[in-house]
Amino acid sequence: MRVIVTGGAGFIGSALVRYLVLDRGWDVLNVDKLTYAANLQSLSSLTDKSNYRFVLADICDADAINRVFAEFRPDAVMHLAAESHVDRSITSPAEFIKTNILGTHVLLEASRHYWNGLGAEGRKAFRFLHVSTDEVYGSLADGGFFVESTAYDPRSPYSASKASSDHLVSAWRETYGLPALITNCSNNYGPYHFPEKLIPLVLLNALEKRPLPVYGDGRQVRDWLYVEDHVKALTMVLERGRVGETYNIGGRAPMENISVVERICDVLDSLRPDGESRRGLITFVPDRPGHDRRYAIDPSKIETELGWRAEKTFDDGIAATVEWYLSNEWWWRPLRDKVYAGNRLGLLQTP
Ligand code: NAD
Repeated sequence: MRVIVTGGAGFIGSALVRYLVLDRGWDVLNVDKLTYAANLQSLSSLTDKSNYRFVLADICDADAINRVFAEFRPDAVMHLAAESHVDRSITSPAEFIKTNILGTHVLLEASRHYWNGLGAEGRKAFRFLHVSTDEVYGSLADGGFFVESTAYDPRSPYSASKASSDHLVSAWRETYGLPALITNCSNNYGPYHFPEKLIPLVLLNALEKRPLPVYGDGRQVRDWLYVEDHVKALTMVLERGRVGETYNIGGRAPMENISVVERICDVLDSLRPDGESRRGLITFVPDRPGHDRRYAIDPSKIETELGWRAEKTFDDGIAATVEWYLSNEWWWRPLRDKVYAGNRLGLLQTP
């Protein structure tokens, strides 16, 4: 299998590329612009692998992307490249509109022209998998769950840009017949997660005895999925999902942000005891505008149709994540210093 992965130097993309190259033996071409969120160090285990290649390219650059298709001749595209940080989308939305909407358009057009030029068998086998978020569905009432038919109701520039890209993918499927699938996933966590996001930010602040910023009352609910479970789900959807369908992916682990923060403190306290509980570092900060209250995924469709199920519970996943950060300071220290240089209070965070 020859697959183009866009955004393969990011958090989820790098987990996907490692899985496809090392565990599945697929030929992978990673197309990434290397924004601040990218880190080729996350792929250092692949440097001597002949089935892995990297191309520095912007998905908004149609000439570069058309060349990539013509030279690599993929069987499939897994599209993850995006601007992904909600807080940044509030302060600077333009880049989100450009990459997430216009970049997806460029990729769809390149895929369509390439796919049109394939023989009958290649056209039948080709797949375009668009990786999206549950944030497109908006905020849930207490106790509710997102299903694939939930109406879109995006609230942040980030989720609005992802919702637009989802609609483009559906339109290319309906209008041009491009064999596309969409996944909408809940919040990921795990190794190699950029230290501005909630879990690594809290973990590393707690390790360094800095305040642990929690938005509002901390009662916002997010549904957490271990990143390695997500990439297995994506691969399964690509291989066995029904063309034209959307699959929601979630770990059946909805939790309030404050409980996540407390859990991280407790795991760290047990692995690196320090005399007093790190829960004392929790600091409530003003809520961000338009902060959705509850996201929770009902993953029944992918579970029953494709037999996928999250393997890691939140307790196992968070323990594995804390242990990974404790053992891999070489990876996060340079990024952490960069995040702190531009954000002295350590308040940038988003789940
Ligand atoms: P990330 O920010 O860690 O990585 C994004 C990657 O895309 C980076 O390597 C970046 O350099 C690259 N990129 C950005 N703009 C680009 C451009 N114009 N051209 C080429 N490459 C570009 O993001 P992530 O958390 O790994 O998320 C990956 C995908 O999964 C995104 O589409 C996101 O919307 C989706 N998603 C993320 C989560 C989550 O919890 N992180 C949950 C559901 C869905």
